[in-house]
Amino acid sequence: MSTAFPKAAKVALGMPQLRSNLAHATGTIRGKRAAVAAELDDWEQLRDAASAVKADVQRHLPELLETFERNAIEAGAKVHWARDGAEANRIAARITREAGADEVVKVKSMATQEIELNEHFEAEGLAAWETDLAELIVQLAEDRPSHILVPAIHYNRTEIRDIFKGRMKDAPADLTDDPAALAEAARRHLRRRFLSAKVAVSGANFAIAETGSLVVVESEGNGRMCLTMPETLISIVGVEKLLPSFDDLEVFMQLLPRSSTGERMNPYSSIWTGRAEGDGPKDVHIILLDNGRTDVLADEVGRQALSCIRCSACLNVCPVYERTGGHAYGHVYPGPIGAILAPQLEPGRHDDLPYASSLCGACYEVCPVKINIPEVLVHLRQTGPHGAGEKAAMGAAQAVMARPGLWRAALRAARFFSRPWRRRGYVRRLPFPGSKWTVSRDLGVPPKESFRDWWKEHER
Ligand code: SF4
Repeated sequence: MSTAFPKAAKVALGMPQLRSNLAHATGTIRGKRAAVAAELDDWEQLRDAASAVKADVQRHLPELLETFERNAIEAGAKVHWARDGAEANRIAARITREAGADEVVKVKSMATQEIELNEHFEAEGLAAWETDLAELIVQLAEDRPSHILVPAIHYNRTEIRDIFKGRMKDAPADLTDDPAALAEAARRHLRRRFLSAKVAVSGANFAIAETGSLVVVESEGNGRMCLTMPETLISIVGVEKLLPSFDDLEVFMQLLPRSSTGERMNPYSSIWTGRAEGDGPKDVHIILLDNGRTDVLADEVGRQALSCIRCSACLNVCPVYERTGGHAYGHVYPGPIGAILAPQLEPGRHDDLPYASSLCGACYEVCPVKINIPEVLVHLRQTGPHGAGEKAAMGAAQAVMARPGLWRAALRAARFFSRPWRRRGYVRRLPFPGSKWTVSRDLGVPPKESFRDWWKEHER
């Protein structure tokens, strides 16, 4: 089993500035989300509706994809199919070259991060410029995003000022760490790129089968610039992003902004259907991306992960994420959703992530599409490489606990044999195979006298 997460988490836990930045940011968004969600009397019904729509999409995905393709082509878009990230990257690079460009501007997109489009473009001699403020910060710092919605959540504003001054050639010499000044510096820097870009790359929050439309919701307006100004638009869309009808959007447009940024409505919602003469890009390409999604669909419990609308509410309430941050997960999708999606999208890798959870259930409570993340975590633990060992250990524990005499003897033996490893009332490190447990947990020392012994003594 991979042990990347426990090691990376240990490093992150030793970084007090990181923990302070994370606690502040997640705490703020958490509070805002809770307040705006509580404003809607039908919040739970909306969650049920969203969950039902997504389950329906998963049941009818092939038909819905064909309907989407037909309607998008009819509206003037060109639709491409990509089995994996490499194929999607190749198609996007070819379209960029055919458009006579050697660079693209990008709307924030998790799908393009998942397939490492920027790295692929660089290897092919093309440039991909992030235009979302937080993505720009991460790109300038040559870092990796650490949160789905707020990729630069691990930086505070002083650190961001230093990144701009060190890496952004046109940053003002007297730049301060005032948020407005930082945003203005980024705005001026990006405007030049928007005005010269011939090609843009986006993802999509939703793809509507009934009309062949794509939807992007965002907060800064950079997405709107990318979607309307360049002559060629390439949208890379995971196949699970489909919604059957335009009416379904009503449910998700109430849930997504409230769950992600804690706003009643996000400032910019862009919906486009193919291309329109004299309005927006002349050439619109849609790349429908599988990259492991149909394999996830085959798992009746695990497929819930495909309902995710990437709001990141589960990250913001997760006690593990809040302490380790996103980099420790080693995947573009961190936090609770990453713990169930990453091992399924890349089988054989990230097998430690389903264990990166206390199973407290906070993620399930806030998820706007009601993904039962703890259920999937337990399912992945049982079916993962560690499942057989865990099952055997639990079976043995059950057999002992079901026999009072055996249980008492086991406690006495545990007390006796744990002596060499006890410190201040806890067993902190056992030899193998007990080390599997104590590597991340302290074990309480069984008391000298069990409750049953005490009861026997005092009952008389
Ligand atoms: S799993 Fe649910 S809460 Fe987490 S990002 Fe996805 S939709 Fe949001």
